[in-house]
Amino acid sequence: MTKRTITSRQVRRAQQMKETQNVSRKRRRVQTPPRHQNPGSAQEENRTNSSERQTPVSEQSRVSSVPVRPTDSAKTVSNNRRRGWMLWMVAVVAILIGIALAFFAEKQRQAEEQARSASALAASASRVAQSIQEEEKIGPKDPDLWSLLLANTTHPLPEGYEPELASVGYDFRGIEQFVDERVQQPLLDMLKAAEEDGVYLQVRSAYRSHENQTVLFESMKQDYMAQGYTEEQAYAATKRWRNVPGTSEHETGLAADIVEVGYGGSLDESLEQTEEAKWLYENAADFGFVLRYPKDKTDITGTSFEPWHYRYVGVEDAKKIMAEGLCLEEYLGMVE
Ligand SMILES: [Zn+2]
Repeated sequence: MTKRTITSRQVRRAQQMKETQNVSRKRRRVQTPPRHQNPGSAQEENRTNSSERQTPVSEQSRVSSVPVRPTDSAKTVSNNRRRGWMLWMVAVVAILIGIALAFFAEKQRQAEEQARSASALAASASRVAQSIQEEEKIGPKDPDLWSLLLANTTHPLPEGYEPELASVGYDFRGIEQFVDERVQQPLLDMLKAAEEDGVYLQVRSAYRSHENQTVLFESMKQDYMAQGYTEEQAYAATKRWRNVPGTSEHETGLAADIVEVGYGGSLDESLEQTEEAKWLYENAADFGFVLRYPKDKTDITGTSFEPWHYRYVGVEDAKKIMAEGLCLEEYLGMVE
């Protein structure tokens, strides 16, 4: 193996030697005395060429006498130059690769940045959508709030329910009226605000005790029976106007029938056209009151349209209910 290697090296060496000889011969030919370059005679040129061709031995002997060192040195210089070029090329390629890598790393970073900001944007959009959805879902923040107490035919008041009462003035007959003490101030503020607008309101009927409600209900039922209604018919007819005891909002102390000062006439739908009813409809929510039995909700409330009956629910909830045109049952999600 080693032997063969040495041999091939020797062969290569010999070839190189031969090449070198050829090179030096060519060089010498180029540097041959002017007689060869003399354009004088082509014959002489031919002769010279033929003499050169005819004297390979002397040429050989002359070349062999030339020292080897300069050839080695030239080869080393050439190798060094090639190696230098190679190093340059490698450096340039390395720099190009480095630039390319940096470029792609930057691109990658930008892509990741974009993806991050896109996902942040999506998350924020989802939060906004959620908050809009929550905003759109109309309903109370706290359905158990005292002011959202529901009293209707399907939700009778707890037995013995008795609110702390406070006065809100006198009705047209001079009978003092009371409400739940927590509603006193908002109601008086509302009456005062109406007065400042030139609309004079009066509470006609507010809190009624369970006993009082029972008396009123029975009284009206008897009136119908006196007109020829059967007891069942009279009960049904009364129920259209008066809540069955225990299911009346007047027993909560949170509601009041409000009309023009001094008005003693009947309570019917025509009152809707009065200044007082209009003012109440426009402004009551600002004081926490709602129209409790709207015209288009009688199927849900089970009670006729009463443009005079207002119920305290608190300002925030009142504004939502009136703005949406809901009845309390709808707002509380307690539609039967
Ligand atoms: Zn009423």
